[in-house]
Amino acid sequence: MMLDAKIPSGPLSEKWDKHRFELKLVNPANKRKYNIIVVGTGLAGGSAAASLAELGYYVKNFCVQDSPRRAHSIAAQGGINAAKNYQNDGDSIWRLFYDTIKGGDFRAREGNVYRLAQVSNHIIDHCVAQGIPFAREYGGLLANRSFGGAQVSRTFYARGQTGQQLLLGAYSSLMRQVAAGQVTLFPRREMLDLVVINGQTRGIVVRNLVTGDIESHAADAVVMCTGGYANVFYLSTNAMASNVSATYRAYKKGAFFANPCYTQIHPTCIPVHGTYQSKLTLMSESLRNDGRVWVPKTPGDKRSPNQIPESERDYYLERKYPSFGNLVPRDVASRNAKAQCDMGKGVGETGFAVYLDFEDAIKRDGKDVISQKYGNLFQMYEKITASNPYEEPMMIYPASHYVMGGLWVDYNLMSTLPGLFVLGEANFSDHGANRLGASALMQGLADGYFVIPYTIGGYLVGMDHTEVTTDHPAFKEATHYVNARTGRLLSINGKRTVDDFHRELGHILWEYCGMSRNDDGLLKARKLIQALREEFWGNALVPGVSEDFNQSLERAGRVADFLEFAELLVMDAFERKESCGGHFNEAYQTEEHEAKRDDENFCHVAAWEYKGDDTDPERHKEPLVFENVELTQRSYK
Ligand SMILES: Cc1cc2nc3c(=O)[nH]c(=O)nc-3n(C[C@H](O)[C@H](O)[C@H](O)COP(=O)(O)OP(=O)(O)OC[C@H]3O[C@@H](n4cnc5c(N)ncnc54)[C@H](O)[C@@H]3O)c2cc1C
Repeated sequence: MMLDAKIPSGPLSEKWDKHRFELKLVNPANKRKYNIIVVGTGLAGGSAAASLAELGYYVKNFCVQDSPRRAHSIAAQGGINAAKNYQNDGDSIWRLFYDTIKGGDFRAREGNVYRLAQVSNHIIDHCVAQGIPFAREYGGLLANRSFGGAQVSRTFYARGQTGQQLLLGAYSSLMRQVAAGQVTLFPRREMLDLVVINGQTRGIVVRNLVTGDIESHAADAVVMCTGGYANVFYLSTNAMASNVSATYRAYKKGAFFANPCYTQIHPTCIPVHGTYQSKLTLMSESLRNDGRVWVPKTPGDKRSPNQIPESERDYYLERKYPSFGNLVPRDVASRNAKAQCDMGKGVGETGFAVYLDFEDAIKRDGKDVISQKYGNLFQMYEKITASNPYEEPMMIYPASHYVMGGLWVDYNLMSTLPGLFVLGEANFSDHGANRLGASALMQGLADGYFVIPYTIGGYLVGMDHTEVTTDHPAFKEATHYVNARTGRLLSINGKRTVDDFHRELGHILWEYCGMSRNDDGLLKARKLIQALREEFWGNALVPGVSEDFNQSLERAGRVADFLEFAELLVMDAFERKESCGGHFNEAYQTEEHEAKRDDENFCHVAAWEYKGDDTDPERHKEPLVFENVELTQRSYK
């Protein structure tokens, strides 16, 4: 199949304007005739549902939590990028575009990323108008700080709670439309299948998580904003409910899955401290504005950090990357932390940690200034570790955090299934092989507030308008599939808990498909995953019944999907015979141990097509064309 990204022709800076002009419009009176399903209420889903309703479409909005406000987006701490150049430090739309393309190791589309950088400035204006309490300078202008992979300060923030404040903004807009009758909310619903009729996406089947009822919903288009799948690693910084089920089931219905192996391991998380831990905590990247990363120069040095003199410390990021220092991008910082620990220089009881030290910043700026910037993050760290970061350095280690892979979408954010649009972390679109900090919130809100309101109209005007109701046999078929799968899970009646299977899956992926990968390990991982999946379907313990609130059943369904999806992730990693961004295959590295791309053979998006449970999926390619930037070896020195 030919993958057409539908990137408009013409100069980069004019593509989006030109496209918006060329897209067909739905007139205001006709918008009322369309029903749109939005799955997800995070920043992508909340902003999309509110904006589409504001335009006059009728929207049904679904989420698994009890309130839209509990979407995982609420956890975002550090900030959101925009090219406003308030600091007058050399930023521009072009620089944000270039930093993002380079940060993603030249594996993203120029057209999409340029649009993202253009729209970034509108997002800030929109959110300020909503009343988001962004931090401000003394003179009243919005404040900025720096994030990895950039030499300018372009990150807007609301202390360490940026995601929460942005989500409250989107939620307010959403609730305005609920009150106006344009949006109907369906909380506590889990999408378990997608309905495709005559080649068009026409609805979803969900399980009511409180009653267990299976419900069908028909629409003219479906917009999926169901977040990322980092929880496939079991331990991650994501919310416990984050999953791959919605996107994976859409993949099984014909939507291609792009670059599943592009996963992001975030360098600054609180290290794992026990076998029975089920969640990891992020310490925001913003801390690297003032915190200095170091390890003892001597392997095995077990002295407390305050006893190690300056001359015996190795500030390895500042030493190796003098231009970017502690603010190198995440993939680079994570690999370096692992390398230090592999050399025996890791600190703490396990040896899998490095220091993030604020001593110099506190001496320079004073405790009050540091507390104003990061107070809530320091407090969170102290609550979890019982160590006071004002007095001794934080201990941090990389952890699974974000995914650049997701359902393949074209420039209109439409998947390979007509009528299925995918927004936010659930799509693969803008970050290439590595996302820069503070760019996910930017992308989710760009997709929801500024892209989908235009592009969905272009689709609706040209679609086949034959009326579809939930009486259509395709809904019955999907309902039957969902009931059969639920019944199968409940009838296994084995001895091993679902969490135990998930934990083992996480170990396999972390070991063989984590920060560092090699062909032997990936082949081994694939076999281990297949064996674990087989054991799951023979020995998992899923108590309770389906006609009730049953969290064990919910989890079992998600883990069953992770067990299938993990194999796709590993296959994708195996087939990509190069290193780029977060995908680091040990066989492809420079003399300085940096990721070495193969632009001749792998300058493309890999998009996987499902071919049946017993057949390998087919790998398609979308070539990436660079007309405006030169492909270079990424350097942060
Ligand atoms: C701890 C942490 C901090 C972060 N900090 C930052 C930051 O400072 N800056 C930044 O740019 N990025 C940050 N990120 C990344 C960013 O928060 C996410 O990428 C982004 O919020 C994802 O938004 P989303 O709308 O795509 O998905 P989510 O916010 O994950 O929302 C998913 C929605 O889909 C619903 N859903 C999921 N599955 C189903 C289903 N099967 N059926 C029905 N509904 C479903 C959920 O209920 C939810 O409403 C951070 C991430 C983490 C983990």
